[in-house]
This record gives sequence, C-alpha cells and structure tokens, in this order.
Amino acid sequence: MLTNLNKILSDARKGGYAIAQFNFSDLEVAQGIAEGASEMGSSVIFGASEKAIEYAGIENLVDIVKNLSEQFSQIPMALHLDHGKTFEICQKAIEAGFTSVMVDGSKHPFEENIKLTRKVVEFAKGKDISVEGELGMVADLKKLEIDKDAIVFPTGEQAREFIEKTGVDALAVGLGTAHGLPLPDERIHFAVLKEVADAVSAPLVLHGGSNLPTFDVKKAVKMGVCKVNVDTELRQAFTGAIRKDLKDKATLDPREYLGDAREAIKQAVIRKIKEINGEH
Ligand SMILES: [Zn+2]
Repeated sequence: MLTNLNKILSDARKGGYAIAQFNFSDLEVAQGIAEGASEMGSSVIFGASEKAIEYAGIENLVDIVKNLSEQFSQIPMALHLDHGKTFEICQKAIEAGFTSVMVDGSKHPFEENIKLTRKVVEFAKGKDISVEGELGMVADLKKLEIDKDAIVFPTGEQAREFIEKTGVDALAVGLGTAHGLPLPDERIHFAVLKEVADAVSAPLVLHGGSNLPTFDVKKAVKMGVCKVNVDTELRQAFTGAIRKDLKDKATLDPREYLGDAREAIKQAVIRKIKEINGEH
C-alpha cells in the first residue's frame, strides 16, 4: 500500500518506535528494501534524493515503488523526496507521484526557511501529501572537513515556532549526526533532542542514521525520533557484495552479482529495522 508519512508515523511517538527511511536510486536496492521490510512486517519509507532523480529519472523511481507497493500490498510504504532544496523540485516530485516530500530550507535564515517550507505545505495540502521540514543542519562530511563549526543546533522554541508557522508533518532536527561515513567524534546531541522533543509533539526525524551506536539510536527513538534515515549502510552492503562477487567469481552476468547485492540489501534492512526497534 502506497501512503504518506502521516499514516505511517501517526502512532510512532506515542508508541515509542521509529520507521526507517532507506534511500534508493535503482531497482535492486528498492527490491531489497521491500523484501527486508516485508520480512519484518514493518512499514517502510523509500527515500529518493534529487541526485537519485537525476540518475534514474523521476518516473522510473515512482513506477518501481508503485509496483513494489502492489507486490507487497500488506506493507504500508511511502515514497519520500529526500532533501528537496527548492519549491520546484518538491512540486515536481508531488506531481510525479511521490506521497511525501522533505523540503530542506536549512541553509536559509530561519524566516526564509519558514517561508519556503510553508509554500510547499500549502501546495501539498489537500493532495494527501506529507511534508518534512528541517531545522538546524545535518552536517555534510566534505564541508565539515573545512569548517568544524558547521553544525547548527535548533532550540525548542525555534522548533515550536517553525512547526506552528509552516504546518509540517514531521521535523528533521540537526542533532550532530552527518551524512556519509562516520565522523571521528560524531554523536547524537541528546540535550538538543530533549529540548526539541519537549517543545513539540510532531514526529522527529534523525538524518545520518547509519553507523551510529545501537544504544544511541534506540535512545533517540525512545526520546521522540520517529523516522531514522539510512543511506550509507545500504551503500556499504550493496557495494561490498558486488566487490566480493567480482573478486571471487568469473561472471559476466549482472544478475548474479546484482542478485547477491539485492540479497545483501535485504539483510541490511532487516538488521537496521531490528536495531531501531528491537527484535519484535
Ligand atoms: Zn539527510
């Protein structure tokens, strides 16, 4: 079943659990995600970035997830634009069939972020599309090498004002985690999370959810994180499986190594869902 974020996350904060967003840009990764989530009986969010859209074509990404949502009809699935930087890309994703968008205005000053985010919410409203906004900043590995102070933490008061003025359904909060491979002193800033979680009741989103200590991920979920975004861990699983196959086997058949890589994605998805919500 293809649905939006609200239906998937509606009970998550009260229930103290989180749903994973897994990013994809091709068929095999998407299939592995659907198979893993289905085996766990878990709802799942497919994340597609602007780069994924450029790579695969927006219609292809939509069709892949639509088909999977019919094949795995018992599992609620959302197709979510990850880090849409402009109104236009959010509009394009919604018109192409995405059920949810993230508008990332975090590089703009607070008031401009509110303005951009509200514009997307107004467009999405009435179309049954959910919108995630971002406050603070999720560090970019490359930028962080230049500027160690690049991480900006939001206050509880800013989070409350942002949600009130924009009407977003979920809020990504810069908590000190980064996209990409782990940084040397990367950790979740729990004091920031607590302040924001105390101030707002909306589902909170943790970006950069790969390769963090399991204990920290579980603690963040208990504190109000309802969506954990995972990309790097799947890339590691997929590329690792292909690298091994090409080294070990003299094959010319892409179905052989891509099939193994798809299975590696499925296993990584199962591991990650267990890590986020325990064994059940
Ligand atoms: Zn992110």
